[in-house]
Amino acid sequence: MTGTPTIGIDLGTTNSAIAHAEGGNIDILPNVTGDRTTPSVVAFDSRAEKALVGKQATNQAVNHPKRTVFSVKRYMGSDQTILIGGRNYEFTPEELSGIILKKLKQDAEAYLGQTIESAVITVPAYFNDRQRQATKHAGALAGFDADRIINEPTAACLAYGLQTARDKTVLVYDLGGGTFDSSLIEIDSGIFEVVATNGDTQLGGDDWDMAIVEWLEERIEREHGISIEGTLAAEERIFDAAQQAKHDLSTRQTATITIPFLEFEGDTYDIEATLRRDTFERMTRDLLDKTINLCEALFEEAGYSERSIDEILLVGGATRMPQIKKRITEYFDREPSKRINPDEAVAIGAAAQAAIINHEILPASTPGGTTAPTANTERTPATQTVNNTVLLDVAPQSLGVGLIDLENNEPYYHVIIERNTPIPVRNSYMTTTAQDSQTEIEIPVYQGDSDRLEENELLDEFELGPLPKRPEGVANIEVKFMLDENGILNVSARDVDHEIGDEIEIQSVFGFTDKELSIMQQNLPEIQ
Ligand code: AMP
Repeated sequence: MTGTPTIGIDLGTTNSAIAHAEGGNIDILPNVTGDRTTPSVVAFDSRAEKALVGKQATNQAVNHPKRTVFSVKRYMGSDQTILIGGRNYEFTPEELSGIILKKLKQDAEAYLGQTIESAVITVPAYFNDRQRQATKHAGALAGFDADRIINEPTAACLAYGLQTARDKTVLVYDLGGGTFDSSLIEIDSGIFEVVATNGDTQLGGDDWDMAIVEWLEERIEREHGISIEGTLAAEERIFDAAQQAKHDLSTRQTATITIPFLEFEGDTYDIEATLRRDTFERMTRDLLDKTINLCEALFEEAGYSERSIDEILLVGGATRMPQIKKRITEYFDREPSKRINPDEAVAIGAAAQAAIINHEILPASTPGGTTAPTANTERTPATQTVNNTVLLDVAPQSLGVGLIDLENNEPYYHVIIERNTPIPVRNSYMTTTAQDSQTEIEIPVYQGDSDRLEENELLDEFELGPLPKRPEGVANIEVKFMLDENGILNVSARDVDHEIGDEIEIQSVFGFTDKELSIMQQNLPEIQ
């Protein structure tokens, strides 16, 4: 086999997955320990020169909590750096995500026996330009080109073959380990419009685990007269047992929990308990209610009713809990689709997008299938369809510049690219100098949908120059916005009268230059 493999990556908050498309099949690639998903956790040695990623990193968390990083995705696109070992070593979110991606790449390369040069990476639909840019940079640090960044719910739709659908409204209900996202998507012949998203970045499968933890701790206190709250090592074991029980209850009516030799203040205890599925469902009902309320708020915001939904996709590992399917079916009066393993759907869709980019054969599109998930959906079924559809997403939010109204000296928001415009898209506006002999112009770029400038997010500030000296207001500068297919903004400028375009340098204030990225890449810790 020659050429570089066609790869899609779900870079998740809790877990990540990598999928490979070839000859009309899409496979999830197992990591070196044979698992189909890898915890998005990074752990460092004492000098932060070596890193562990995945399950091994999670295992180190109890002994070295200050050297173990969870949920770095929450910080992507921010200036926040993460201190390792208390204070000594500092990493950017891009570097930490880059380490996770590098591990996924290494394991996949070992499995395939091929070098990965590019991949499609997914991001939440609400990610703004900076967060998308940060994700692309993380790919570069991992040593590959993120040749497309796509929305997670869009990827889920692709995994279900919905790119060929006409006029379809889809709800993607995505419950992961630590986050809940609901997205309403309008699909029409390859154009995916994320109409609205709603969610809770602090609600996920972990909360269902914690409900069992609390239940167990109460029992232990009642039966053994000890309160282990705050005892890290003992709590860790209880948490693991609780999560195992939650997983067991997805396929069984009762789960037996045994924690032998639980150490607490010099003594050991043997813990045994039985948890029934209906008890578990009763004690987590408020959590499930929260997700339904968020979906209701989503419909309200978008002006839709639950009746207008044609298909519901369940995504995220926590949707394996039967209570989710049961409740969604009751609420919508229809069964959700969960034909594809919910924790693999996003990576599979990313690989489908990569296949479309490379003009490869795609798996069969069988939208609407609602068979129960099998424990090991190894591959999506093959078909001979060569899909040449141009897949398009839309601009998630409007993009514009901050200008000053010369009449009243007030700042205002001038939109250059409207929200929901199919991407890629270009647009431009004319600007000029405000003072005599001015040689530089600053362009503050905002993203958002408020009429008021200050209510939108300042994405970046570009400095444009050098310009030839002229009296104020004489220069005619055309500033071009190009929102690429990744939802990432590129800005260029042209001095119309002087035919200088290339000479005008546009310097971004945020983000990293290629040179900075290359230095960061060289200094990345070795992955063990
Ligand atoms: P994700 O972030 O999509 O990988 O989802 C991770 C969440 O899915 C964690 O809270 C897991 O405990 C949960 N999960 C994985 N498998 C199961 C299962 N069989 N039953 C219930 N929850 C599960």
